[in-house]
Amino acid sequence: MRQIVLAGNWKMHTTLSEAVSLARAVDHCIREQSLPSHYSVLLCPPFPFLEPVRQVIQHPSLFLGAQNLYPGDAGAFTGEVSAPMLRSVGCTYVIVGHSERRKIFGETNDLINAKIASARTHQLVPILCVGETWEERAAGKTEAVIEEQLRSGLADISLHHPGELLIAYEPVWAIGTGHAATPEQAQVVHRWIRHWLAQHYGADFADGTPILYGGSVKPANAADLLAQPDIDGALVGGASLKAESFCAIIQAALPS
Ligand code: PEP
Repeated sequence: MRQIVLAGNWKMHTTLSEAVSLARAVDHCIREQSLPSHYSVLLCPPFPFLEPVRQVIQHPSLFLGAQNLYPGDAGAFTGEVSAPMLRSVGCTYVIVGHSERRKIFGETNDLINAKIASARTHQLVPILCVGETWEERAAGKTEAVIEEQLRSGLADISLHHPGELLIAYEPVWAIGTGHAATPEQAQVVHRWIRHWLAQHYGADFADGTPILYGGSVKPANAADLLAQPDIDGALVGGASLKAESFCAIIQAALPS
C-alpha cells in the first residue's frame, strides 16, 4: 500500500521554544488520532532546531526532515550542512529543490541532482520538489518544465524501491499565495508524474512512490486534494506552523 505522507515545512520560522512546543503539540495530536500504519507525518524545522525537535518526538510515525543540504560530506563550506550531519541528528528525509531555493538562491537542476545523490548515499530520503510558474502554465509548458526538473534532478540516481524518493508537486504560483491548485489541476499533474516515473523506473516503483501536493494546503481544502487518486499526501508551509491547522490537515487525510 502506498505511503501517505503529511510534511510540515517550517521554512525560516519559529524560535527554539516555539519549535519545541509545535513539535510536542503535533506529536500529541497524532497520538490522539490513531494513525494507520501507512501514514507518516514529517516535521522539517530550521537546522538549529532539528535536535531539540528530535528530542520531543515520541510517536513512531512522526519523522524528522531537513529543508536543505549541501552535496558534500564535510569540508571548508562555511555555513553549509551535510547529509552525514543531518543523519547524525536523526533526520530521515530532506527537502530538495524547493522553489524558494531555486528562485532565491539560484539552485540549478544540476545542483539539485548532486544534493539528491548525496542524500541517497547517506540514506536520507529526498523529497524532490517540482513545479511550474504561472507564466509557464499559461504558456502550456507545465509538463515540459516538470519533465526537465525530474530528468536532470534524477539523472544517474539509482532508484529501485518505493520509499527511496518522494516527489512533491508544488506549483510555484500556489506556494504561499492562498490560491491552491484545484484538486483536478493537481491530479492531472500528479498522474503525469506517476506515468513519467513508470516509464523511467518501472510500474512498481511508480505505483509505490508517494507524490505529495504542496501549495496553500489548509484544513479547508486538504480533504478534496487528498481524495485524488494520485495525491499521496501534502507538503505544507504556512498551515504547518500552527499545530491546530496542521493537525486538521492530518485529520482530513485520514480514511473516513
Ligand atoms: C511550501 O513551502 O512548500 C508550501 C507549500 O508553502 P505553503 O503551504 O505556505 O503554500
